[in-house]
Amino acid sequence: MAMHLRQLFLQHLAQTSPAPISLEIVNAEGCILRDIQGRRWIDIIGGISVCNTGHRHPAVVEAVKKQADQYFHLLVYGELIQSPQVNYAAKLASVLPPSLNCVYFTNSGAEAVEGAMKLAKRITGRSEMIAFENSYHGSTQGALSLIGDEYWRNAFRPLLPGIKHLQYNSMDMLREINSQTACVIAEPVQAENGVRLPGKEWLIALRKKCTETGTLLIFDEIQTGFGRTGSLWAFNKYEVVPDILLLGKALGAGMPLGAFISSHDNMQSLTRDPVLGHITTFGGHPVCCAAGIAGLDVLLNENLISAVEAKAGLFLEKLKHQLIIDVRSAGLLITAEFADALTCKKVIDYCIDNGVLTDWFLFAPHCLRIAPPLTISEEEITEACTVIVRGCDHVQRLTFNVKASEGFTKVS
Ligand code: PLP
Repeated sequence: MAMHLRQLFLQHLAQTSPAPISLEIVNAEGCILRDIQGRRWIDIIGGISVCNTGHRHPAVVEAVKKQADQYFHLLVYGELIQSPQVNYAAKLASVLPPSLNCVYFTNSGAEAVEGAMKLAKRITGRSEMIAFENSYHGSTQGALSLIGDEYWRNAFRPLLPGIKHLQYNSMDMLREINSQTACVIAEPVQAENGVRLPGKEWLIALRKKCTETGTLLIFDEIQTGFGRTGSLWAFNKYEVVPDILLLGKALGAGMPLGAFISSHDNMQSLTRDPVLGHITTFGGHPVCCAAGIAGLDVLLNENLISAVEAKAGLFLEKLKHQLIIDVRSAGLLITAEFADALTCKKVIDYCIDNGVLTDWFLFAPHCLRIAPPLTISEEEITEACTVIVRGCDHVQRLTFNVKASEGFTKVS
């Protein structure tokens, strides 16, 4: 008898968790996922901030099909003129400040981080780098060295030398940036720390200190880009422009794509000493770039970004419960915070059992993640919040029953 797909999944696909969600999804459209038995989930995490235009937006599907009819991979990165790459780079440059006008496409966010680290070393001739506590930048060796959490780093030592981790949003800490520092890498909103927003003054001071010391400021907008926080880029709100911008996740509208972006001058340093200063076979795959162009067009033309604040407001209004101790939002990057990880986990389990797909944040397991497609409707928001609040009621009842029975046991 043929093995069940679930058994094959557990046996042959490398597992990274003892308890994967393991739903068997066969169809995804907009905000809705369906499994093999026809059960339905509202996806309020959008593939972890990937599907900003929803799953399989018709314009993205069309663009993918059209490009598939022309060509897939042709040659390693940067040799041939491939219109999806060139047009996407030019389009991104048109919606970025003039100093961010040159794009290097990668396959993933982590690779964009790696490229940016190399670029910063190359431009400044320095090797020290600064990152922040509770920031996530990816899982490859260099990106992992930047991760601001010892639990996730420690098993993989030795890591890259010369990296300091500073407290995020701390003015005092900026004194650590000096003329030895090649770059500072920061998220304009810390996502995996459970949605932590910096003060605008802090980002302005960070920019100033980097400029004074000749340090390159890198913004990791892999999770916050493409309208997620209510403006096209999170840095738009802070009026601080980085020297290097990192994109990923929503960049490919559901297809794998990353990018590091800087000035044309800066990028020129990858062309000499050594030539081919950064190499990728598949980075900027034409089908992924075609999907990305279509996705960005949808974002810009369908008023999705201007609707973010109102949709976020609806989440905030409806996520009220005794167990929810805080709700933080940077547009549609939202968290409902619980007192502890166990409570959060139980609410998440309830949600998944009752038609809402959500999870937790890497450095904040007591925080429930909400990062839906920006296309989510009011009805879907209402339905998802109703399930989350019912989940809270359910967990509260369970906890009460356990406490009551403990009390009963003690008395008897
Ligand atoms: N940077 C941030 C802020 C992220 O959230 C992530 C992924 O979650 C990455 C970098 C790494 O991206 P990828 O998983 O595509 O390598």
